[in-house]
Amino acid sequence: MNYKSTRGGAEVTASQAILKGLADDGGLFVPAEIPSLDHSLEEFAAMDYRQTAYQVMKLFLTDFTEEELKYCIDHAYDSKFDTPEIAPIRKKDGGFYMELFHGSTIAFKDMALSILPYLLTTSARKNQVSNDIVILTATSGDTGKAALAGFADVSGTKIIVFYPKDGVSPIQQRQMVTQKGENTFVVGVDGNFDDCQTGVKKMFGDKKLAEELAAAGYQFSSANSINIGRLTPQIVYYVYAYGQLVKRGEIKAGDPINAVVPTGNFGNILAAYYAKLAGLPIAKLICASNENKVLYDFFSTGVYNKNRPFVLTNSPSMDILISSNLERLIYMIAGNDADKNSRLMKELGEKGVYQITEEMKARLSDFYGNYATEEETGARIKSMYEAEGYVLDTHTAVASAVYEKYRAETGDQTTALIVSTASPYKFTRSVLNSIDGKYDAMTDFEMADTLSSLSKVPIPAAIEEIRTAPVLHKCVCGVSEMEAMVKSFLRM
Ligand SMILES: *Cc1c(COP(=O)(O)O)cnc(C)c1O
Repeated sequence: MNYKSTRGGAEVTASQAILKGLADDGGLFVPAEIPSLDHSLEEFAAMDYRQTAYQVMKLFLTDFTEEELKYCIDHAYDSKFDTPEIAPIRKKDGGFYMELFHGSTIAFKDMALSILPYLLTTSARKNQVSNDIVILTATSGDTGKAALAGFADVSGTKIIVFYPKDGVSPIQQRQMVTQKGENTFVVGVDGNFDDCQTGVKKMFGDKKLAEELAAAGYQFSSANSINIGRLTPQIVYYVYAYGQLVKRGEIKAGDPINAVVPTGNFGNILAAYYAKLAGLPIAKLICASNENKVLYDFFSTGVYNKNRPFVLTNSPSMDILISSNLERLIYMIAGNDADKNSRLMKELGEKGVYQITEEMKARLSDFYGNYATEEETGARIKSMYEAEGYVLDTHTAVASAVYEKYRAETGDQTTALIVSTASPYKFTRSVLNSIDGKYDAMTDFEMADTLSSLSKVPIPAAIEEIRTAPVLHKCVCGVSEMEAMVKSFLRM
């Protein structure tokens, strides 16, 4: 199975799509057709995480041999995760919380970024690439650290991360600026996440820069969530979760479930949609936004409009106004019509707004969008803590609050899988302040100790590590200086 661009262009293999990240025409790679799961749901119920990963990913990465793919999977989903379940599910207050934060940087980005370096270096080998691969990444906080951790000291690669200087949590920033590895480079940008992402996309699209890089023995690739090397591993945990719910007797094979996903760049929820299209019985895809509710407005009106104030919230990894992966859905509801999609994306680029047709909107009936305000998110952290002693991070709390709204609005009692995307330890200050304002005077690390005693969950290694780690990255730049930073790091 090959991949084609959402904006036309020639088909490429999976490994070529992973190497390129973005298509040459600026579009995103999509499977030429979505494959179907070739095992029964009962069979998936008997598989562990790695077995599930192989059975799902082999359908999407068809030019990888069994040996190559198993090598990647076995090296990714190992003791870097603090539980052999990899993605444990907790039943709390009427929902099933799938915890995707047991990897080395305690956010769901680890699910894909612990395997991407293996997929990418394997892809380079398969395609006789001799250049060093430069991973260029814009991050709203979590991707950056997870990508740095995944690529640090991987030979044949360098990684450059741009983050919004004042737009990530203190813990997220500390995690990044203390990153070790000769091949790592971290830069704070004087701008917001969309500025970082736009700057990175510009460099990807710059032909002259690509030539200069090639002359110096480099080529860019992307660890951002548009890379199918990230999307594919994210399909796995939906299939795995379904199997686990069957295995535990919570549902019968074939029963529908709803998936509730705290959404930013639309990668995680798109993976759930691909899982559904591949045959997993997901009924509704519930797209949860914070106050940057551009997706909620889109699902309600059919108008995507990024022209609005950018709100800095306590769920910074969802502070996004241009949800890149939505383009893949737009392409699909346009009837896989690259021209139609390109026109809409051009409008987005030029005017910041586009409107889909009624016919396209009718194809969105599997999705439900809503959002939670800062106040509702904080209140949900508190109510969950009081009901269950279970502490949600701010992103998961957005999803949980939206799920409550959905149930109140629709009365739908279908089993709900709520995707828990970060450990509360990553957003300790916001989380504790939601439970009780009295903790506010504490330092971040005192807060971690307090959270541990409140939640009865030990402090993760990822937090212990950065307590004393020295700051290794101090670079800061303006939005217009990003390319100069890249060149100086690569000594070009
Ligand atoms: C990245 C991230 C999200 C948003 O995921 P998308 O795939 O970008 O929609 C939500 N929560 C956390 C904690 C994240 O790191």
